[in-house]
Amino acid sequence: MLFRDSTPTACGLGQAAMGPFYCPADSKVYLDLSFFDELAQRFRAPGQFAQAYVVAHEIGHHVQNLLGISEKAHQMRARMSRRDGNALSVRVELQADCFAGVWAFHANRQRGGTMIDAHDVEQALTAATAIGDDRLQRQTQGTVVPDSFTHGTSAQRVRWFRVGLDSGELGRCDTFRAQLL
Ligand SMILES: [Zn+2]
Repeated sequence: MLFRDSTPTACGLGQAAMGPFYCPADSKVYLDLSFFDELAQRFRAPGQFAQAYVVAHEIGHHVQNLLGISEKAHQMRARMSRRDGNALSVRVELQADCFAGVWAFHANRQRGGTMIDAHDVEQALTAATAIGDDRLQRQTQGTVVPDSFTHGTSAQRVRWFRVGLDSGELGRCDTFRAQLL
């Protein structure tokens, strides 16, 4: 779903300030178009592949939903302290980044390796860096972006996107077992 300003969803009112998000209750990805303007201007990550990375990350959450990972994480989080719950959320989010990389690997291969070049990857990594929790919290004082509080640092997001992009294997995206994120 594409929207501006706000839109009703099965997960409550979707608002532009939330950034792109996935709603498991209706299995839809909600993309506020002003986020992409912001991505290009404020975060300096223009380019279609940077946008595709953001969309692919959200679709990654849909894959997690289909695989039962979201439900399991949700149940575990209910029994955890807030701090542990946030740490678990980071693993969920980094896995979505890794899945986005896996998508990019295969989409690129299907097109004979012509879809993305080094510059595109650079742009996507810039996007991943720009929307890391640490960077966002430093930059967006006052702006609420709930889907970003628990996504991991810029370096972690870049690393896991790369793991997916370089391998093309979902199995490499086990962020739950990884000792070092
Ligand atoms: Zn996410």
